[in-house]
Amino acid sequence: MRITDARKEWLLAALDAFQDRILVVSPTYEILATSGRGLERREKDVVGKRCYEAMNDRSVPCENCPLHEVLRTGKPTLRGDQGSPEERTACLYCYPVRSGTKIDALVLMDFDVPVLAGLEEKLRRSNAFLRNLILSALDGVIAADKTGKILIFNDAAAEICGYTVDEALNRLDIRDIYPGEDARQVMEKLRSEDYGGAGKLKSYQVNLLGKNGDTIPISLNAAIIYEDRREVATIGFFRDLRETLRMKEALEKTQIQLLQSEKMASLGKLAAGVAHQLNNPLGGITLFTKLVMEEYDIEDKAREDLQRILKDAERCRDTVKELLEFARQTRQEMRPHDVNQALSRTLFLLENQAIFQNIEIEKDLAPALPPVPADIQQLNHMFMNIILNAVEAMEGRGSLRLRTALSREHDQVIIEISDTGPGIPEDVVPRIFEPFFTTKEEGKGTGLGLSLVYGIVEDHGGHITAESKVGEGTTFIIELPLTRQEMGGPDDGA
Ligand code: ADP
Ligand code: MG
Repeated sequence: MRITDARKEWLLAALDAFQDRILVVSPTYEILATSGRGLERREKDVVGKRCYEAMNDRSVPCENCPLHEVLRTGKPTLRGDQGSPEERTACLYCYPVRSGTKIDALVLMDFDVPVLAGLEEKLRRSNAFLRNLILSALDGVIAADKTGKILIFNDAAAEICGYTVDEALNRLDIRDIYPGEDARQVMEKLRSEDYGGAGKLKSYQVNLLGKNGDTIPISLNAAIIYEDRREVATIGFFRDLRETLRMKEALEKTQIQLLQSEKMASLGKLAAGVAHQLNNPLGGITLFTKLVMEEYDIEDKAREDLQRILKDAERCRDTVKELLEFARQTRQEMRPHDVNQALSRTLFLLENQAIFQNIEIEKDLAPALPPVPADIQQLNHMFMNIILNAVEAMEGRGSLRLRTALSREHDQVIIEISDTGPGIPEDVVPRIFEPFFTTKEEGKGTGLGLSLVYGIVEDHGGHITAESKVGEGTTFIIELPLTRQEMGGPDDGA
């Protein structure tokens, strides 16, 4: 193979430009030529010398020199072991230069292309694996460097915060995802000893600021990442607490609701007691008024007044009777009840209150409704709550319509209670059955009425919906099944 002068020049220039060290030695370790990293200046000093003497300051050949293996096998060789630190030489890779089968010279290099490529590949793969591990973690993972620039933002973090991963990596600063001073506080706590050790923060509850401005409560585990004892970044693993807190809140509300129903029960007892006490004097008033009218000869005018007293006393007695019925203290007792009668009873108790004065009441009750298995006290409470809401919504003026109907097809009784009030905005309707949801001013509404109603309807295996149009009014529709679906199989003794 002939090399032209021009090509020779180029090859030499290329070798010179090469940064890594190349030695060309004879099979007896004699340096024939060198190139790379400042060696050209020393070339005249080293050429002709033994490589182990000139390069490694040794009196005998290096034990782990790849040259031995090349001489033995005739093949390019990579030095296997690195040797002890004292023995660590720069000669990593060696290949023969030959004419025919004879090895004329050997080239020793201090770098190794195949190994570097392999290491890079290994590194790339383990990096990709770690990246994958973080990105697919179920917890949110965010890492940021010391300036606040976000380095890692995984899918879970994106889902919790509402930012896309791209947005976060390119546009966000770590301070953007904490409201107010929280980012600074997290850093302070991280550096303090008191929250799981310096450089660590364990199960710390803090808020994040979502993209849409929501504050998102999270539980954060964070750590400072050090390199050579220098702080280079922070990493946080966190979990969205919204669902957990919602559940906790719901539980607390249920407890309060329970308390409230206890209170209602004791109010019922009180009402029953008062009603009993009123019963006797009322009986007396009625009886003696009648006696006076029968036994004395009195003027017509006075008789008229007595008549009036009698009528009012009777009305009182009826009220007391209804109240007793209403507040009757029983355990939940499912018996067949006439829904029309229950509605009328509740209305009877309410309709003479001042708030009903300018309310027109329309009744459209289906005749001969079959009785519905129900707890009468609960049924009364249910109607009372819905009717009071309707009348309160109308603010004393409008019309209240009570309608009942039988649906043979579905084996149920349908009760509709409508008002001509202001209606409920569409986005509010889904919330009205929530405990404590009220739009009434403090002290006026508890927000418990409809949640109680909802519970009662469920207890009866029924269904309740609200239909409303703003400006026109609201209708509550209750469906109560005529037959109770019993749970459990036929052997179920209960
Ligand atoms: P409260 O009456 O104490 O506010 P409720 O649970 O009885 O609690 O009712 C919840 C909310 O539902 C009320 O605050 C009101 O906004 C709405 N609401 C209920 N019934 C009606 C109705 N007939 N018309 C308009 N809004 C109603
Ligand atoms: Mg109410």
